[in-house]
Amino acid sequence: MTLRALTVLAAAAALAVSGSAGAASFGQVDDARLLHAASEPQNWLLHGGDYQAHRFSGLDQINTGTISALKPAWVFEFDTSRAQEATPIVVDGVAYVSTAWSKVYAVDAATGKQLWSYDPQVKGEVGAKACCDVGNRGVAVYRGRVYVGTLDARLVALDARTGKVAWSVQAADPNSMITSTGAPRVAQGLVYIGNAAGEFGGRGYISAYRADTGKLAWRFFTTPGDPKKKDGAASDDIMATVVQPTWFGPHNAYRGGGQVWNSIVYDPDFDQLYFATGNGFPWNRWFRSEGKGDNLFVASIVAVDAKTGKYKWHYQESPGDSWDYDSIADMILADLTIDGRPRKALMHTPKNGFFYVLDRATGKLISADPFVSGIDWATGADPATGRMMVNPGAYFDNKTAVRVSPDGGGAHSWQPTAFSPRTGLMYLEAYSNTLGLYTPRPTYEWVKGLDRTGTVNYGAHAPGEGPPALGDIAGQSPRPVQANLVAWDPVARKARWKVDGRGSGVLATAGNLVFQGRGRNVMGELVAFRADTGEQVWSHQTPNAIVTGPVTYSVRGEQYVLAASGAGGGVRIGTEDVRQRQVGRLVAFKLNGTATLPPDPPPAPMIAPPPLTWTAATVLEGDDLYGQFCSRCHAAQARSSNVVPDLRRSTALGNPALWSAIVDGGAMKATGMIGWAKFLPPGGSEAIRGYVATQAHKLREERAKASAK
Ligand code: CA
Repeated sequence: MTLRALTVLAAAAALAVSGSAGAASFGQVDDARLLHAASEPQNWLLHGGDYQAHRFSGLDQINTGTISALKPAWVFEFDTSRAQEATPIVVDGVAYVSTAWSKVYAVDAATGKQLWSYDPQVKGEVGAKACCDVGNRGVAVYRGRVYVGTLDARLVALDARTGKVAWSVQAADPNSMITSTGAPRVAQGLVYIGNAAGEFGGRGYISAYRADTGKLAWRFFTTPGDPKKKDGAASDDIMATVVQPTWFGPHNAYRGGGQVWNSIVYDPDFDQLYFATGNGFPWNRWFRSEGKGDNLFVASIVAVDAKTGKYKWHYQESPGDSWDYDSIADMILADLTIDGRPRKALMHTPKNGFFYVLDRATGKLISADPFVSGIDWATGADPATGRMMVNPGAYFDNKTAVRVSPDGGGAHSWQPTAFSPRTGLMYLEAYSNTLGLYTPRPTYEWVKGLDRTGTVNYGAHAPGEGPPALGDIAGQSPRPVQANLVAWDPVARKARWKVDGRGSGVLATAGNLVFQGRGRNVMGELVAFRADTGEQVWSHQTPNAIVTGPVTYSVRGEQYVLAASGAGGGVRIGTEDVRQRQVGRLVAFKLNGTATLPPDPPPAPMIAPPPLTWTAATVLEGDDLYGQFCSRCHAAQARSSNVVPDLRRSTALGNPALWSAIVDGGAMKATGMIGWAKFLPPGGSEAIRGYVATQAHKLREERAKASAK
């Protein structure tokens, strides 16, 4: 018997043990398979389903006629309750999925049985670098390996069969504030990875590594460095000629932004790569660039040669961004016929609320239309030049606050979008009428480790102004905020249908269906709509909220719908009751499935809040400090969904020594809760305790009123 035959036998034996009869290849995905991903709908080979990132599946066993029989097939529990944002990759019966803290699992896609797991051992304190919890949006699978970006900014290649590390590189300085939460993308022998730090300072960039060795192939910076120095990067020429002239004021180490933290798409039609960039840093252009300039390439789409990283074109969606308008939404490629002419189009729905259609050959704008109502930061795109016409009143200085729609949360953020070639419609979650209050700080000082955006932060409010009203995402809007699932016709440039409801990422299928995950408090549901009309045809409650996009695949002739479930941190909720924390899960559904999902978690226990012994001035100071330092993870007004703890229910609240040990001393740094003593003013943590205790008393009154009803 030859060595090769022995190897094959051994592989067959391993399969028999794992019980996954369909799992023949363990990630043997080559370029030909990726190029024709749509022709094997039994798999979900790429983050967006295929290179065009349609998030559309040709499977139709589950359709409008059969969907009433769609039931849970299996459940897989992670070991963490933190954010679940991944899009699973499914190859030949094996699902590869990342979870919070950049851990990776391979599970049998038919049974949910674990095949292997990988823990990159990210240190807990790195969690304090994450703007929005310690989630990870997915892995890439290519030529027998699984690629993951870690929160501490490593790019790691794993053996798809065993989960063992093949190579690992540091994709960013571990001493910087850069994290990696986005899914790597693969094409033509390269792995592409961006990173995040948009609220902490520094320049954005994207790197291409050789998939086989981990050697850096090229890097492209999205915002400028010192004009006197070259980076030695693919972006050097365009930086000097096009980018630098759009920035004003002195260069420094922290300014920039334009992080490539979510969407990266490879376009085989032109062998080019598109990446979408985040907000400028600091947010306030007054401090970033003397209050002027477009500040390329913040809030933009950039196209480069996929092999070399050489610049091809860009389109900036929010010139001189000052509103946290990350342009990082999914990009979707399609061949559309517009005005009788075939166009190679790129569709994009960034936070700024406009639906963009670009020509992929040239980067020229085809159309830009608001996909939500209430937008006032810009009036549209100049039909002659394609340039966005920004309302001059939307920019702000260091004195006067402005209110602009949409808010920094955006009309649409990173939650996956889908395009059905059958209906010609793009599906996305959208928020109308959000209104952001941007209150500038009078002076700017960057502090490493803090999210100093040049405005009064997040949930905080201007001195003398009341805190944002509840039940209103943006806070100050006189118009009711509306959450909708929108089906948008990119050719007719209008919505074909809309349904109400707050949800997240979507999946479109040939069964004339659109699936969307939804959240209710920390609990959630998976919902299905007719793709052509928006009629709701199915829903199933899931114990966790679903904040990412589901995928579909089939094993041995049975179609599954799979979603990672588990809300992220920093989620502010209204007056409904908070639930006990629970672990994140993978939930899979199939026709006539027989699994049972775990029950909904019970309400989180109340505590007896400590007596209010703080002065009104101290509580007010605590309110301001809470907004600056705590609300990012524990939610505005301490109204956390409890994924990151609801501090109003913390047993440490009545114990000043324990509170200080945690807040000042970092006793819980393994969770990401570092010690804040080095940042807080004297007495700061005690003032925060006073504020949170006040909020805890309010909570108790609310609960008493609710139970009296
Ligand atoms: Ca941002």
